[in-house]
Amino acid sequence: MASETPNLHVLIVGGGIGGLMLGIMLERAGIDYQILERSPEHRPLGSAISLNGTVLRLFEQLGLLEELYKISKFAGRLHVMKEDLETQGHLDLEHFEERYGYNSIVFGRPDLFKMLVSHIPEGKLLMDLAYSNCRQQVRLVHWRAHLGF
Ligand SMILES: Cc1cc2nc3c(=O)[nH]c(=O)nc-3n(C[C@H](O)[C@H](O)[C@H](O)COP(=O)(O)OP(=O)(O)OC[C@H]3O[C@@H](n4cnc5c(N)ncnc54)[C@H](O)[C@@H]3O)c2cc1C
Repeated sequence: MASETPNLHVLIVGGGIGGLMLGIMLERAGIDYQILERSPEHRPLGSAISLNGTVLRLFEQLGLLEELYKISKFAGRLHVMKEDLETQGHLDLEHFEERYGYNSIVFGRPDLFKMLVSHIPEGKLLMDLAYSNCRQQVRLVHWRAHLGF
């Protein structure tokens, strides 16, 4: 898509789920951006993640929902357990589609990162580079980053 805002350049600090999603949104909007991630590789928090209608609408708008469904399983019930796996309670999710328009889904975090990164063009995501500060000079912003943490 041709850029309608040629002078706008966005620096995204952090290539977590938020930074990668923002990158994809800017990509779709034709706005220039650069993502800096201080870790040399993605180290997803926890092993699985569950999402529902509050955010699946965004995946749909970005044309990513079918791809997300391919790496997901539908979740009908969420069990809350203690560390020793003793059940604390549960949450029924089966009415979610009727109420919110989308089922609740669960998937592996590494799979989500792989999927999101595959939609960021090469060179837009710089790993092992930590943002440190920025300085504004009239209409120019200078930013500094250093290698690693
Ligand atoms: C165990 C666990 C389970 C969870 N389960 C769920 C769930 O099931 N469903 C759900 O919706 N949410 C869940 N969450 C919450 C979800 O993980 C977070 O809301 C989400 O990861 C936040 O994403 P983010 O990109 O905003 O931040 P982060 O994932 O924290 O990413 C920030 C990134 O910025 C980088 N960074 C920081 N400083 C700099 C710098 N100076 N320069 C460059 N890079 C920098 C960091 O290295 C990091 O990669 C869970 C969280 C945890 C811990």
